[in-house]
Amino acid sequence: MLRIAVQKSGRLYEDSVQLLKECGIDLRNVKDRLRTVSENFPLEVFFLRDDDIPEYVEDGVADIGIVGQNVLLEKGRKVITVESLGFGKCRLSIAVPKTFDYTGIKDLEGKRIATSYPALVKSYLSDNQVNASIHEISGSVEIAPGIGLSDAVADLVSSGGTLFMNGLKEVDIILESQAVMVAKPGLTPAQQSILDKLLFRIRAVKKAKKTKYVLLNAPNDQLEKIIAILPGMRSPTVLPLAQSGWSSVHSVLSEDEFWDRIERLKDAGAEGILVVPIEKMII
Ligand code: ATP
Ligand code: ZN
Repeated sequence: MLRIAVQKSGRLYEDSVQLLKECGIDLRNVKDRLRTVSENFPLEVFFLRDDDIPEYVEDGVADIGIVGQNVLLEKGRKVITVESLGFGKCRLSIAVPKTFDYTGIKDLEGKRIATSYPALVKSYLSDNQVNASIHEISGSVEIAPGIGLSDAVADLVSSGGTLFMNGLKEVDIILESQAVMVAKPGLTPAQQSILDKLLFRIRAVKKAKKTKYVLLNAPNDQLEKIIAILPGMRSPTVLPLAQSGWSSVHSVLSEDEFWDRIERLKDAGAEGILVVPIEKMII
């Protein structure tokens, strides 16, 4: 049995549970539970506050956990990052009131900065040889300048909407963050083998999300040109259509090259292009 710690409620909860489900791990009655055991995979899930997850994993209360890099680096616990998960993306940024004529980090010399991430902010300031006082507050950091508590904030940002609504502007990025899977050092061979199985599934799910299955019809005289545009896992599948002179071509395309290739396929004479999501991808 492997014990995993995930956030009980909040921004990482849905994606964490969803990821486990997409890995084929049955989790029943997760709502309002503190722990649950999967019925089809040797995994026990603990639902905790995200801030506590690095400590619980370091201490071995849980064997692995899902947590934001921002929390992980802030806490400085001795755990091993085994996989980035691609969700919970945000950045820890410095923001100042819109009226602050900010030209660079040196402008924060002698100023007061409100944050929930004192360790990360402190090390960023000292890397830049800036002396400023840090006011640690645990929530609603963005209102601090407005109520006269600080001159600037260092807070998590994704769209920037919250900053904007509070009359702040983002001026420097301290850290780019996403959710990661961490493990305690020294897993037993049995635990490591369950983790390897889980990671194998996670990688298949992640890979599939970045990839689309593409089906299209191609006139046979254009096949060579079309196949050259489609990389495929080995090479595309080509099947004859009932109508002579035409073939159906199947292949996979990654998200980053997707639109460019689709346009080139159309230009090369491909018709009836279907793009289908892939659920799992094992290569
Ligand atoms: P908890 O009750 O578990 O302590 P919390 O209030 O500290 O929850 P959330 O706001 O749910 O935490 O955020 C959890 C994590 O989600 C953050 O630590 C961060 O890694 C990630 N995250 C992604 N986008 C954002 C964002 N725009 N603002 C805050 N956190 C974000
Ligand atoms: Zn938290």
